[in-house]
Amino acid sequence: MPLVSPSERSITPGTLGLYENQEPLTVERVVVHRRRLQLVDPVETAFGRFESLVRLYPEITFRSQSGEAVRGIGECSPLSAPWYDGECEGTVDVALGFLVSSLTALGEPITGITSFVARLDWIVGHNVAKTGLEGAYWDAVAQLQGVSVSRLWGGTRGRVETGVTVGLQRSPGDLVNKVRAVLDQRQIARLKLKVKPGYDVTYLEALRRSFPDLRLQVDANGSYDLFDQEHLDALKCFDDFQLVMIEQPGQSDDLLDHARLLAHLDTPICLDESIRHATHARQAMECWGEFSTLSKLVINVKPSRVGGYLEAMRIARLCHDQGVSVWCGGMYESALGKAANVHLSARQELNLPGDHAGLTPYFTENIALSPRDQGGWIEVPRGVGWGLGDMQRVFESP
Ligand SMILES: [Mg+2]
Repeated sequence: MPLVSPSERSITPGTLGLYENQEPLTVERVVVHRRRLQLVDPVETAFGRFESLVRLYPEITFRSQSGEAVRGIGECSPLSAPWYDGECEGTVDVALGFLVSSLTALGEPITGITSFVARLDWIVGHNVAKTGLEGAYWDAVAQLQGVSVSRLWGGTRGRVETGVTVGLQRSPGDLVNKVRAVLDQRQIARLKLKVKPGYDVTYLEALRRSFPDLRLQVDANGSYDLFDQEHLDALKCFDDFQLVMIEQPGQSDDLLDHARLLAHLDTPICLDESIRHATHARQAMECWGEFSTLSKLVINVKPSRVGGYLEAMRIARLCHDQGVSVWCGGMYESALGKAANVHLSARQELNLPGDHAGLTPYFTENIALSPRDQGGWIEVPRGVGWGLGDMQRVFESP
């Protein structure tokens, strides 16, 4: 079978229409700020309960050729333990040590995003850590230009659609009550329901009886065994519920089995954990082209999972060019990371609602006011940089 064309290697900052900063910038200093943020709803997992999350904010001071200093701040959003993709607060700390020393080592000044990410490429993986540093770069360049980050990124939307996620509930009745409470509280573009074996078909039946027109999708976080007939039968039943997509039903690093073993489903399959870079996205498209059809593939692109905003935009372009739907998921980001995801979603390639809002705020206190959602929409911040105000002042205060 011929390769899906064009290859992801041909997608460059130029073809993406990104602003390329031509003025050489020297990295003068990197400081990593830390904040422990208390969760409004603690995260429950099979091995523990997390009451808070540490968010790390790399602040990079660049010096231009003319002597002007500019500082940018990004966000690293790890989970407390490595249960999503192997990264966690501790691994981000370690990786930032290596990455920061490579940024501050003497070398050619940085000219454009390609030369910035090239400084980080020698570290394999550690995508959460890389995303925070790349965010700081874009924030600094946006300040130099006096524009918002979405302007640098070629974002054309003034507002983006947003949906909320509802976690596993103890019974179908509890789920219906929970969703009713959500819909009474706010208008949403879509609802995403977490599912796993045993917490799926009867729950979806109850939900559809009560909310036949709700724009609904499910996320299984890799909990189905695609070689177990009972699990496959349950997934086939999902076709009865008019779902927009089934997100990551199978193993978290699989591409082939999702395409091969779920081709008989009518509902599109969305890959989240399986896509760690643009090459994975292209390989997924080849698998769907072989066993299914590209219209039944969706990709959830999270900058933190794929190693940054440039890589996320490359994946989104590849999806757009091949007719694959794509949207921006979330990782419990604080206001800065959330704003960055909203700026990213202002690009036209992202064509489905993102995870930009929670049922309640994620944290009891945040570093800034998150962009607000209203009527299922969220405004793309228009101010300079991330559009959240003076972030340096936030981190200078004790
Ligand atoms: Mg997911």
